[in-house]
Order: sequence, then C-alpha cells, then structure tokens
Amino acid sequence: MATYANYQLISARGSGAGWAMVGDAFGFVDPMLSPGLCMAMSSAERLAAAIPAHGGATPELDRALNLYWHWFRDQLTAWQDLVEHFYDGRIFAIHRAGSAFSQKHPGIVSRLLERHTAKHFSGMASGALTARPYSRGLLRFLGRHFARGSEPGLFAIR
Ligand SMILES: Cc1cc2nc3c(=O)[nH]c(=O)nc-3n(C[C@H](O)[C@H](O)[C@H](O)COP(=O)(O)OP(=O)(O)OC[C@H]3O[C@@H](n4cnc5c(N)ncnc54)[C@H](O)[C@@H]3O)c2cc1C
Repeated sequence: MATYANYQLISARGSGAGWAMVGDAFGFVDPMLSPGLCMAMSSAERLAAAIPAHGGATPELDRALNLYWHWFRDQLTAWQDLVEHFYDGRIFAIHRAGSAFSQKHPGIVSRLLERHTAKHFSGMASGALTARPYSRGLLRFLGRHFARGSEPGLFAIR
C-alpha cells in the first residue's frame, strides 16, 4: 500500500505566454490552518487585477503575471513558515511561556504583550497578516528566544 503524507506543493513557475495558475493549481501548503480557500480566493483576486479588462497578450501582461505568481509564491512560503511553527510545537511553547510569564509578572505589561502577540498570531492564522514582515519576525523571534525553555517538542505533531 502506498501512503502520501506530504500535502505541500509549490509550483516552480506560475505563468507563461497566455496562461497563469491560480489557487491549488499553483500551490497548496496545509490542510490544518486553512490557507487553501484563503489563497484560492486572494490569488484569484490578484490574478483578475493583473489581467486587463480589454484582454490582449502584451509584454505588460507578461510582467504583471510574473509579479502575480512571485507574490503568490511568497505568500505560500510565509504560510509554510507559520505551519512549521505550528507542527513543531513552537507556537504552543510560546503560549506556555507567555502564560508562565503573565503568572509571574501580572499586570499591564503582561496584558499588553499578550494582546500584541495574540493580535499578530491570530492575524497570521487568518491570512490577514501571514506574510507581513513584522508579524513573521515576531513569530520567529519568540520561537527562537521564548519557546526554547518550554519544550516545544512536547507539543510537536508527528
Ligand atoms: C477534504 C478537503 C477538505 C478541505 N478543507 C479545507 C478547509 O477547511 N479550509 C480550507 O481553507 N481549505 C480546505 N480544503 C482545501 C480547499 O478546498 C482548496 O484549497 C480550495 O478549494 C482550492 O480552490 P481552487 O479553486 O484552487 O480549486 P478547486 O476548488 O479544486 O476548484 C477547481 C475546479 O476546477 C474543476 N476542474 C478541474 N479540471 C477541470 C477541467 N479540465 N475543466 C474544467 N474544470 C475543471 C474542478 O472540478 C473544480 O471544480 C480542503 C480540501 C479537501 C480536499
């Protein structure tokens, strides 16, 4: 029996002369955090905006399609980054470390920090902030320096 466990795929190229790929056809990176529908719809929106209403294959169209799929690839790469933090347990370890910090130092600073990280992490999981550099940097920073002491391995999904 053959089994298939890796759902991740990002195409090496997303457009050419007179064609472009949208949604799952270009890439799909995770069945858990629901980037599928989000990216299918937002890539369709971007692609529609790249195509001139009057049609016609012009050099500008080629450039616009090229920009479009590079944007799409960057979005999927950002989703992969988030998904990795989810599966290897770092997100849960950050949460645990944050809860321990709040218990140790109750008050306004803890509440503000918690609200700030919750805003960025939920924004990333919803698709609104997934590729935003600051949100990605915050996740990476906390994953590297904050989660380490909270045993991310315990929360890893295997
Ligand atoms: C079981 C399951 C559960 C999922 N759950 C979620 C979820 O909870 N959240 C989430 O975000 N995503 C989920 N997804 C992923 C999500 O469904 C896809 O990422 C999304 O539907 C992709 O949209 P799309 O328009 O790119 O492709 P599709 O929705 O696959 O649409 C492609 C369409 O093209 C048609 N087609 C194919 N070949 C041809 C052809 N030659 N000529 C004409 N038409 C053709 C197909 O019939 C289909 O209707 C799930 C997927 C599966 C399979």
